Amino acid sequence: MRRVALLALLPATVMAEQQWPQHSRERPAPAVVTPGAAVSTPAPSDAIVLFDGKDLSKWRTRKDKSPAGWKVEKGYFEVVKGTGDIETAQGFGDCQLHIEWSAPAPAVGQDQDRGNSGVFFQGIYELQVLDSYQSATYPDGQAGALYGQYPPLVNPARPPGEWQSYDVVYRRPRFGPEGKLVSPARITAFWNGVLIHDAQELMGPTTNKVRTPYSAHADNLPLSLQDHSHPVRFRNVWIRELRE
Ligand code: MG
Repeated sequence: MRRVALLALLPATVMAEQQWPQHSRERPAPAVVTPGAAVSTPAPSDAIVLFDGKDLSKWRTRKDKSPAGWKVEKGYFEVVKGTGDIETAQGFGDCQLHIEWSAPAPAVGQDQDRGNSGVFFQGIYELQVLDSYQSATYPDGQAGALYGQYPPLVNPARPPGEWQSYDVVYRRPRFGPEGKLVSPARITAFWNGVLIHDAQELMGPTTNKVRTPYSAHADNLPLSLQDHSHPVRFRNVWIRELRE
């Protein structure tokens, strides 16, 4: 009953967005936009550099906290299939993140099985990484999607093998006494310099084929990257902690 009452307070556009079934292939695909010249923003002085091209010392294997098993070479690191997700040793809450990635070239596979990885804020909320250059999938699962919830506003994908950037402002969810949700997680994001989420509120944690409600968690948790069995590359990763 309470959920119905809350929905009644939402603007019509938000309601319309939330009424798409998860992973709907009927949902309109974001318009393709050709991004401008590649951007590689160097870390500002107050950033924590999570990867400077040399080593994964700021990262560890998510599952057992052992040293990260992904490959480092030529100034980037690459998913090694089967080694599992990696996460930062440090926990983060509200933050600004810059991360660059590239999908395998030549492209292999299609749909979700093509250059799939992901950036998980607090290890829970995924900004999808996928090869979405001239490659279709369900819109809430394409690159730049808040996976299973919101497609990016547009699709400024670069071809596989080219470096792409995400610049994200992440606001963690707030929980009150007894773990009650006070305010949802919120994401503003740019992909290759193009706005793809404008203070978008997340419905809850990222889950596949089901939408799960929030459950209370710590204020600071590791940022994680997904091993989806594809050799996706990352470089120039830095983060700025934001004040509440
Ligand atoms: Mg993914």
